Amino acid sequence: MTRSPWLPKRVLVTRSAAELPHGQRIVERCAAAGVEDVQLLRGDRLPSLQAGDERATYALAKSTLAVVVAPPSKRRPQPIPPSADWRLDLAEGCPAHCQYCYLAGSLGGPPVTRAYANVEEILDGMDAHVGRGGVTSGTVERGHEGTTFETSCYTDPLGLEHLTGSLSAAITHAGTHDFGGPVQLRFTTKYDGVAPLLDLPHHGRTRVRFSVNAASVERFEGGTARIADRVAALRSLALAGYPVGLTVAPIMPVEGWREEYAALFDAVAAATADVPDLDLTTELITHRFTPKSKEVLLGWYPRTKLEMDEDLRRQKRGKYGAVKHVYPTPVMHEMRSWFEQALADRLPAARLLYWT
Ligand code: SF4
Repeated sequence: MTRSPWLPKRVLVTRSAAELPHGQRIVERCAAAGVEDVQLLRGDRLPSLQAGDERATYALAKSTLAVVVAPPSKRRPQPIPPSADWRLDLAEGCPAHCQYCYLAGSLGGPPVTRAYANVEEILDGMDAHVGRGGVTSGTVERGHEGTTFETSCYTDPLGLEHLTGSLSAAITHAGTHDFGGPVQLRFTTKYDGVAPLLDLPHHGRTRVRFSVNAASVERFEGGTARIADRVAALRSLALAGYPVGLTVAPIMPVEGWREEYAALFDAVAAATADVPDLDLTTELITHRFTPKSKEVLLGWYPRTKLEMDEDLRRQKRGKYGAVKHVYPTPVMHEMRSWFEQALADRLPAARLLYWT
């Protein structure tokens, strides 16, 4: 059975957000969806989201949607390798409860979801970046994708779409605006509410990737759509002419991983077998954690069974010396060669963009 879309317990709207047409539309959508507690704030500061303890703060923040105006620092597109040339945020935060969440440790404070009311201004910022960027623009392998803008770095935009409409605005903008050069909008999601996207004038300029995983990893993904429903949603979008993709993440060598990932690829192959002109990519991302993300996640999910054992991992240092705990080199090699072969055998139409 498909899960119901997220309904926040309360919506906080800053004064500046309430003055913008998109902010007003979000308020109307929230009321129509059945949110009873919509608070129009007198100023632009959100009230404290701290509750009694860390668990209570988490619960309060995760059930709150804040409608705010993105400041210039958040509007400026940032490079985002290996996915895309630029990051383009329509929101920050996510209502789901994944025990490995990528946002843990990268966003400070209680995990409230903030939807940006100045979407038009954010989208207008794309023009200045067209033709620039180092991931897809001008590269041999991915230059045909054009200048790429990733909208799911700090949120799951489809999970909020029924309340915000921001994703539809972005897809329509990418599909219809004259950018003076090829552009692709991209996002990845663990939700399945794609009905509002099917008839948009996307013109093939938005690639929707579904974050999917082995069946036994799904238990770590609270509040998201079931994986089978994500695969069905991928099929619907592909039939509507969207370029689509799989973000297989985070890959984990759970017991029986070969069989489980093979079953996943077979399910996608069956769901897309009759899609005309299928344009399907894959991105393969192994599980990793940082000291900070582990600390935050253990605060949020103290009883998690997710393996975050430094002794079973190899340390990798990022650009600025930050430590990440990744799988040991032999495990990475084994998984990588298995995945490349499995995709070639089971989903030969899919184009692998990267492994990390
Ligand atoms: S869907 Fe993504 S952003 Fe949302 S909780 Fe899960 S991992 Fe985090």
